[in-house]
Amino acid sequence: MVNFNRILGAGLTSLDARQKLVSRLKNKGISNKIILEIIKNIPRHLFIETALRDRAYNDVALPIGYNQTISQPYIVGKMTQLIFENDNMKKILEIGTGCGYQTAILASLFKTVVTIERIKPLYIRTSKSLKRMGFKNIKCIFGDGFNGSIVDSPFDAILMTAAPTTIPDRLIRQLKPNGRMVMPLNEHGKQKLLRIKNTKNGILKKVVDDVLFVPMVEGTTD
Ligand code: SAH
Repeated sequence: MVNFNRILGAGLTSLDARQKLVSRLKNKGISNKIILEIIKNIPRHLFIETALRDRAYNDVALPIGYNQTISQPYIVGKMTQLIFENDNMKKILEIGTGCGYQTAILASLFKTVVTIERIKPLYIRTSKSLKRMGFKNIKCIFGDGFNGSIVDSPFDAILMTAAPTTIPDRLIRQLKPNGRMVMPLNEHGKQKLLRIKNTKNGILKKVVDDVLFVPMVEGTTD
């Protein structure tokens, strides 16, 4: 786990705000103690622009530029709870790096995180900042998440933070047997959060919640 005290110096006042956020998430049903501890330790304000930092510990999504948003902490907690089952899970693929907050949480739970972003300036900004923060187990890729990453596959888990309109087959094929995927799916304009298991008899899916994510877009942008 990265020690953020080195970056935050003596100004640890945001810890109070994070503790309050964690109690709110507990009340809303996030129960995994390891995940709550990680949310308490990771300074969400460092992932967003200075002008919005006073809202960093409200349970809301916020803009991160390029028409994208950092997900609401409750959703981050919920998705992480759905994907993290036990500590035998070593390698995870994340689609949609964005500002890297979800990536940082995953990097505190999994041995290796591979994350893909399709917007080049966002990829550059976030890969630099995750490195500066001291994360050594994150591989950032600029590319189209619909392709996944064959060279890094198979994965124990795949987490998608943008919503496609069908379950991407190419990604299912990069999951290990019994691997899991958590993703928002946009069906007829309504988004549902799905938890998918890759079994030898095909995929098992369960609808978990109604959600609202940015759309998953094909191709890349410079
Ligand atoms: N977890 C991020 C969420 C960012 S929003 C955070 O909390 O900051 C979703 C991200 O998915 C955006 O950055 C968007 O550019 C990216 N995205 C959308 N379609 C994609 C695709 N096909 N491949 C990779 N990234 C994609």
